[in-house]
Amino acid sequence: MVVVGGGTAGWMTAAYLTAAFGERVDITVVESADIGAVGVGEATFSDIRHFFEFLGLAERDWMPACNATYKLAVRFENWRQPGHHFYHPFEQLRSVQGFPLTDWWLRHPTTDRFDVDCFVMASLCDAGRSPRYLDGRLLEQEFVEKDGLPSTIAEYQGAQFPYAYHFEAHLLAKYLTRYATQRGVTHVVDTVREVALDERGWVSHLETAEHGRIDGDIFVDCTGFRGLLVNKALAEPFVSYQDSLPNDSAVALQVPMDMDKDPIRPCTTATAQDAGWIWTIPLISRLGTGYVYARDYLEPEEAERTLREFVGPAAADAPANHIRMRIGRSRRSWVNNVVAIGLSSGFVEPLESTGIFFIHHAIEQLVKFFPATGFDPQLQEGYNSSVQHVMDGVREFLVLHYRGAKRADNQYWRDTKTRAVPDGLAERLEAWRSKVPDAGSTYPRYHGLPPYSYNCILLGTGGIETLPSPALDLIDEKPALAEFQAIRHKARALVAALPTQNEYFRRMREGS
Ligand code: FAD
Repeated sequence: MVVVGGGTAGWMTAAYLTAAFGERVDITVVESADIGAVGVGEATFSDIRHFFEFLGLAERDWMPACNATYKLAVRFENWRQPGHHFYHPFEQLRSVQGFPLTDWWLRHPTTDRFDVDCFVMASLCDAGRSPRYLDGRLLEQEFVEKDGLPSTIAEYQGAQFPYAYHFEAHLLAKYLTRYATQRGVTHVVDTVREVALDERGWVSHLETAEHGRIDGDIFVDCTGFRGLLVNKALAEPFVSYQDSLPNDSAVALQVPMDMDKDPIRPCTTATAQDAGWIWTIPLISRLGTGYVYARDYLEPEEAERTLREFVGPAAADAPANHIRMRIGRSRRSWVNNVVAIGLSSGFVEPLESTGIFFIHHAIEQLVKFFPATGFDPQLQEGYNSSVQHVMDGVREFLVLHYRGAKRADNQYWRDTKTRAVPDGLAERLEAWRSKVPDAGSTYPRYHGLPPYSYNCILLGTGGIETLPSPALDLIDEKPALAEFQAIRHKARALVAALPTQNEYFRRMREGS
């Protein structure tokens, strides 16, 4: 197997496949020294812990090597109005008497913060806490051992973990390069000049600038937005999502940070702007930040100026990385003997940090559908439909953020209310006007996140009216009110007990 591309996608793929198949699959990674990786993509989604566990990597080893920090949530700022914020945390939503707590909160709002009332993590984020105690114990153990919130550890071991990570993308690629090459993966640093096809239209080999011909049976296209194999050589069409997600550009900065002074928030922050939003990702060494915007509404120079003003003097010397984003997906990611993974397969804007999640999901599917005994169209079909399902679902979820955002103070934000929405979302939006989503089958397209994510965005962005179940009028509210109190109580206790992220990582650095 030949993997073309040595960005996050290329090395995650090589490392995972070598962990899965060992020496039974021969893997070569070809990575150009002249064509850079995209250089962003540093916030993750909580499933990523499965990836590191699968590779057998311990946090104490890989995290310091990648300047990594913990992430408990995405913090959305100013999506409703200036000064407002809410969290979408990695925490299961509890139910009381069969109804999700957000449902109860709508019926009996005890405060104006649904996130703080329904999730412990929101308070931890507000207080900048680490999910680990200074002795290295995990917050999730505490949840289970003490008050039983949530009730079983299985809740965390399924789709959701209580936290994800931020890390420096290029350091992770380096770390995984070492991991993979130590396990037998061949690393070729060279640029692919030509992708040769056989008479069936399958890739027969690659021609490189200095290493000549490289043969393979399966080729994994991890060449980023170029889609060198899947889109260029095999001419697989690209299905754009831009009619519903118009942000097509970004400008990114790497800003120096002093962990003794600057807070390391345990969340990715997405701050709404006039033509998009700015991400802030706190690492041990620096902040990663960038403005994701739509070229139809904003010029790159103006975006960069806004970003620099937002960050302040610390950004003065940081060079800007301007990126054109290809929003959508390849019609099929697996075509003939080429499997596209990463940006070549598809991308939506990074609002919920799903780019690396797409990669991880695709690799897991590739292992499941791996053509070990020859190419079977059913395997290919199974793989493609799983990848498409996830990307189309995330697209829909992201559209909800804009549709739901209460702000409509300029043309960019007004247009988010009238733009076409993906199939099915319009009906769901209509249904949610009468009743907040609950666990169930109404959201079949959003793989990977439970329905509570929809609740968070609906309640947080505030622009779409949604109502509690009428049945709650007939049910005793005391247990739900007690649950709100228990969450507040639990959050207070944890805020008192847990160190800040700064303190936690300072201690780790000092080895105490
Ligand atoms: P790239 O990083 O572009 O790597 C492409 C590789 O292909 C490079 O190594 C290059 O050398 C190689 N290559 C290209 N052509 C050739 C050739 N001819 N010969 C040999 N090698 C070649 N995801 C998240 O999960 N969280 C985030 O917070 C996040 N933020 C993002 C912000 C922005 C603005 C963008 C654009 C993306 C973001 N993503 C995020 C997505 C994430 O960055 C990508 O999913 C991830 O970096 C994977 O990229 P890649 O490896 O597919 O492509």
